[in-house]
This record gives sequence, structure tokens and C-alpha cells, in this order.
Amino acid sequence: STEPAGGRVAVITGASSGIGEATARALAADGHRLALLARRADRVAALAQELTAGGATAIAVPGDVTDRDTMLAAAERVAGELGGADILVNNAGQMLLAPFSSDQVEETRRMVETNLLGAMTATEVFLDQLRDGGGDLVNISSVAGRRARAGASVYNATKWGLNGWSEAMRQELQPGVRVIVIEPGAVRTELTDHITHTASKEASEKMYAENAISAQDVAEVIAFAVSRPPGVSLNEILIRPSGQV
Ligand code: NDP
Repeated sequence: STEPAGGRVAVITGASSGIGEATARALAADGHRLALLARRADRVAALAQELTAGGATAIAVPGDVTDRDTMLAAAERVAGELGGADILVNNAGQMLLAPFSSDQVEETRRMVETNLLGAMTATEVFLDQLRDGGGDLVNISSVAGRRARAGASVYNATKWGLNGWSEAMRQELQPGVRVIVIEPGAVRTELTDHITHTASKEASEKMYAENAISAQDVAEVIAFAVSRPPGVSLNEILIRPSGQV
């Protein structure tokens, strides 16, 4: 095998931008082999090609966490081409901030289906692979999973839900699979680009312009957490810009 010492197979959902893309770069630098999943096939293909050119092993796996069939196909590809997943980073997510309203039924549904059900679907289809030899389940939650705010109710609900689900999963899967919850504050990514409620979008952009860390700052913490010795679990990590209230 040409696998570098310590290299494991990591599946990252939402690897086409932001925290997922930065995590792919950090884990590749640590010698892990990668499966890069997102809906934008061109983006994950370009990233896989770049990482491969740099000497890493990376495959692009176009997929949608809200579509179980594409996730099942992804799990089959990872098993067939990389021998199964050791690390699953549930990172795919949307933050479509707005006051709770009938105007937002589509956004409400999309956030629950992506942030919460999507993480559950990805975990369900990869669970046997993670269990087979000591895995890491990394769930990208948020400060919004610990602190509720007017105008963020549904996003809060998805991240709160992710935290509760993660703690129960930690108990169910221990000691073989470590469950690691990452809770970033403001991070400069494409996250706010997709907000449809204008006032919420402007308020978010203003807040992010004042105080935000980089996706790489978060990726380094994820890479550190999964690199701990098997008996050590960093179960919950909150990481904010130092100036964030
Ligand atoms: P980005 O918008 O840059 O990245 C989001 C990623 O999720 C993209 O790669 C997108 O890819 C992917 N994605 C969205 N929907 C789906 C789907 N249905 N199936 C597969 N992939 C999907 O934002 P971030 O990097 O900031 O967000 C990553 C995670 O970090 C999210 O869970 C977010 O809630 C969380 N987070 C972010 C913070 C921040 O301040 N930025 C703070 C705290 C948490 P594509 O569109 O190609 O499918």
C-alpha cells in the first residue's frame, strides 16, 4: 500500500466550499485519503484534482445529503474505491436566516432537511464503515447550537438538534466510534451568500465583516481532534473569533 502512516479515509460532506473545503486541505496535508461530497460536481472535481496533483488521494463524489439514493451510491463508491470511511465530517449545511414566517417555508424545510436530516442520512449510510475499525463522526454544529437568537430560530433548531443527537450517538457508539461536535462562531465562507431575507442577510454580512475567523482556523481544529490517540475523545469544541460577543 502507498498509504502514508496514519492515513485514514475521510468523507467530507459540503466539501465544495468554506469549512468543508478547508478541512479537505488540512486532512490531505495530514496524509488522509479523501472523498469530497457536494452537489456542485465541478467544484469537488477541481479540488480532488488539485489535491491529487499535490500527492494526496482524493475522489470527488457528487451527492446531495437530502437525497438518500445519492448518499447510498456515495457510500458504495467510498467502500469500493477507498476501502470504506474511517472519518465522516457532517459539514453540509445552510444558514437561511429570517424571522420565522410563512414566507420562509421553503428555507425552513431546506435547513431541517440539510443540516439535521442530511447529517443523519450521511451517518446512517456510512455507519457500518465507521464502525469497522474505529471511526470518527465529526458533526459541524455551531455557536447557534448553544445560543438562540431572534431571527435564527430554524437554524438554531437544526444545530440544537444536531447537538442532542450527537450526544446520544456518542453514548451509543462508544468506545469504537468517537463523536466530535465542532461549534464555530462566525467564519468567512459562502454561508451568508444564500440568505434570502434581505435585512437578515445585511445584518449577517455586517457582523461577519467586523469579526470572523477563517475556514482554515476551523479545519486545523478538526484535523487536531481526529489526530488524537484512539483512547482520547475531544467531544465538543467551541471556536469563535476573539471579538465575537
Ligand atoms: P458554505 O456555504 O461555504 O459551505 C456549505 C457547504 O455545504 C457547501 O460545500 C455546499 O455545497 C454544501 N451543501 C449545502 N447543501 C448541501 C446538500 N444538500 N448536499 C450536499 N452538500 C450540501 O458554508 P460553511 O463552510 O460556512 O458551512 C459549513 C458548515 O459550517 C455548515 O453546516 C454551517 O452551518 C456550519 N457553520 C458555519 C459557520 C460560519 O460562520 N460560516 C459558523 C458555524 C457553523 P454544494 O452547494 O455544492 O452542495
